[in-house]
Amino acid sequence: MEEFDVVVLGAGAAGMMCAIEAGKRGRRVLVIDHAKAPGEKIRISGGGRCNFTNVHTAPDRFLSANPSFCISALRRYRPQDFIALVDAAGIAWHEKTLGQLFCDGSARQIIDLLLEHLRRAGVQLRLECAVRGVRRPSAGGFEVETMGGTIACSAVVVATGGKSIPKMGTTGLGYDLARQFGVPLVETRPALVPLTFDTHLLQQTQALAGVSTPARVAAGKAAFEEALLFTHRGLSGPVILQASSYWREGQAIALDLAPGADVAAELKAEKAAQGRQSPANVLARRLPRRLAQWIAEGQGLKGNLADQPDARLKALGAAVNQWVVKPVGSEGYRTAEVTLGGVDTRALNSRTMMAEAVPGLHFVGEVVDVTGWLGGYNFQWAWASGWCAGQAV
Ligand SMILES: Cc1cc2nc3c(=O)[nH]c(=O)nc-3n(C[C@H](O)[C@H](O)[C@H](O)COP(=O)(O)OP(=O)(O)OC[C@H]3O[C@@H](n4cnc5c(N)ncnc54)[C@H](O)[C@@H]3O)c2cc1C
Repeated sequence: MEEFDVVVLGAGAAGMMCAIEAGKRGRRVLVIDHAKAPGEKIRISGGGRCNFTNVHTAPDRFLSANPSFCISALRRYRPQDFIALVDAAGIAWHEKTLGQLFCDGSARQIIDLLLEHLRRAGVQLRLECAVRGVRRPSAGGFEVETMGGTIACSAVVVATGGKSIPKMGTTGLGYDLARQFGVPLVETRPALVPLTFDTHLLQQTQALAGVSTPARVAAGKAAFEEALLFTHRGLSGPVILQASSYWREGQAIALDLAPGADVAAELKAEKAAQGRQSPANVLARRLPRRLAQWIAEGQGLKGNLADQPDARLKALGAAVNQWVVKPVGSEGYRTAEVTLGGVDTRALNSRTMMAEAVPGLHFVGEVVDVTGWLGGYNFQWAWASGWCAGQAV
């Protein structure tokens, strides 16, 4: 039987970071992945440029049933630490918006960086290798059963990611292993995902598909201000992806399509100043014309501003500043960027990512119930949690 100190399941962001750190500390490390290539999610991330971290990383940018769990790891491995790796590799990057750092070139550079560090740390990488199961024949170690044979090791790190984008070959292995070893799970759901409308609302909004505008969107207790996009299925754009992590079925979301402006007051002022303008033309100064027309028509307004009683202008302003709409669902794991929920952090040690009840079994990255906002936070969690486990195994 082959023997290693550490077997890492999953050659994604978290698994590779963990393996690098463990290898640097002299551990004999094997990383197993069933995919043909490592870091496939890194390759497609950030539109091919990988939003590899966010300089505003802080615990309040993460969702979890146990919000304080991520504090330790995020403090110990910071965005600056990953930036230092990127700089040392000579990879050019830029800050796009809201602290989001992207490669100037390609996400492939981040994968190459990780592969180079894996090589230097003496880590073995085994691809196209399906994991059949993990056993713990004695308290001192594990046996990982793969298609190619059984591997004995003293620590197993589960870095198999979440459920998003099933066509990339995601499996439930991480969750199955948690169940097998009695580690509790927090219910999972798609997050950072477009929201969908019912057929009635879709008919009403069909003409808007493709329209994009800055908006503030409130869902549950959270609110975000970024770009909104109307789609053929409902709503998308960064602001909706962010809100989707806080939205639950049956809830409405509140959209402000002109954040920072009191549209009713503006309409009244325009009525007094130049009452012969059409309401849609006035709205079109703040909104894309198609959207401005759609909102004005939706309010059934006929004639110019001067023809409208103030109450109607108030209602029109509210349609822009407080559009309340009830999505019927989300696009699901097919397009979700991440999975909310996962391995319950109350069963893990926040310094080592080890299951308290199963010495030697660690969980890192997206499989854990720590989910970041859009904008590089999820990779920062993958690096940080992987780094912590790598120090500990
Ligand atoms: C389209 C898209 C764009 C994104 N863009 C960004 C971005 O720009 N910035 C950001 O911060 N986050 C982004 N994310 C989220 C980010 O990709 C994930 O949070 C991150 O990849 C999680 O890392 P991980 O290592 O935990 O899991 P993964 O990267 O998913 O890695 C898991 C690995 O485990 C392997 N695996 C799974 N099951 C098995 C099995 N049974 N046997 C063997 N191997 C297995 C998989 O093949 C995979 O290689 C994006 C996600 C998507 C879908």
